[in-house]
Amino acid sequence: MNHNTATDPAPGCRAGCGACCIAPSISSAIPGMPDGKPAGVRCIQLDTDNLCKLFGQPERPAVCGNFGFDRELCGDGRDEALRLIGEWERLT
Ligand code: SF4
Ligand code: SF4
Repeated sequence: MNHNTATDPAPGCRAGCGACCIAPSISSAIPGMPDGKPAGVRCIQLDTDNLCKLFGQPERPAVCGNFGFDRELCGDGRDEALRLIGEWERLT
């Protein structure tokens, strides 16, 4: 997913992965999910290509821009990312 800049994906981020829009909990409001989302639940703004419908828009929660590509969490593929981020979520 995502990162600090408004339009460019973080280097290394796999477009169409979306694991960081599913595995972690998000406590801030997301359009369509006013209470945020629990861990392991797919964000309502993640489209069928696993891309954020709000990317680059002001409605996108600020927290989403803070999750940049990190090999420790993103691993080598989507399934690994879902597992690693899920574990990280349970530990934090
Ligand atoms: S989990 Fe990592 S690789 Fe997957 S979308 Fe998020 S930042 Fe990109
Ligand atoms: S708002 Fe976009 S970037 Fe944030 S979790 Fe949902 S789909 Fe991912």
